[in-house]
Amino acid sequence: MIKADKIWIDGKLVAFDDAKVHVLTHALHYGVGVFEGIRAYKTADGRSAVFRLKEHVQRLYDSAHIVLMEIPVPPERLEQACVEVLKANKLDAGYLRPLAFFGAGAMGVGAGATNPVQVMVAAWPWGAYLSEEGLKKGIRAKVSSFTRMHVNVNMVRAKVSGQYVNSFLATREAAMAGYEEAILLDTEGYVAEGSGENIFIVKNGVLQTPPLSAPVLAGITRDSVLRIAKDLGVPVKEEKFTRDSMYLADELFMTGTAAEVTPVREVDNRRIGKGEPGPITKRIQDTYFKAVRGEEPRYREWLTPY
Ligand code: PMP
Repeated sequence: MIKADKIWIDGKLVAFDDAKVHVLTHALHYGVGVFEGIRAYKTADGRSAVFRLKEHVQRLYDSAHIVLMEIPVPPERLEQACVEVLKANKLDAGYLRPLAFFGAGAMGVGAGATNPVQVMVAAWPWGAYLSEEGLKKGIRAKVSSFTRMHVNVNMVRAKVSGQYVNSFLATREAAMAGYEEAILLDTEGYVAEGSGENIFIVKNGVLQTPPLSAPVLAGITRDSVLRIAKDLGVPVKEEKFTRDSMYLADELFMTGTAAEVTPVREVDNRRIGKGEPGPITKRIQDTYFKAVRGEEPRYREWLTPY
């Protein structure tokens, strides 16, 4: 069970056990909440920093805009709240979870838009999302029987709570079948993304990921990896690919704030490449971890020290 000292809710830091909502909270019933997942890391200078805080907070406000929600505090205040929560919990590294949602009031589906919008930020220590071993050796993934929702169903630029039922079903199905993660195809059958990660393949030295016109989240780790690949001189293609091109890829990995850069060594019981993290994956993963820890001066602008 996650535990911390304090949670920031509606402008105040309160004791962990006091951060409660009413059972008639509209978002609990209909899923209209928007959220972020952000990581903070210890940095090389002995301090700590939040990774790409501004971009995450911007995406939260973009998500709110998409679902017609007005977050009652300005983005700068939310950025500050993220840092306050880390400090209040004496966390020199950890995971931040901001969430804005329609609170209690009217109960009609659309009527909830008039309810007060509540905002919270929690933080806790969180290790490797798909295991330490997965980061080192790669994970086993399975193409899901659940499809990533069509772009006119899933608001792809938004991280909306209710949209995560799709991810929940896919990730449970994969886990119950003995795999570590699910890969979802889009409604046309092309590879979209993981339950909470973007996906990349490497073939003949070229890095490829689905374009942002596909039903995929505009992942901030995806963006960081594209920049890192460019800086490392790895050619990149943002183009759709098929399920069988994953089977034939030389390398495959997934990216996300929680999952970081996780190699995939097997998909649907087919070994990927040599069945271990490949050289391009390793270079990108290594550079990513240097970037988040402030060990690469060219990526310092991504860090908010605290
Ligand atoms: N896709 C989905 C569905 C996600 O939930 C996430 C996690 N936010 C990602 C991709 C990766 O996004 P990011 O790198 O911004 O964490």
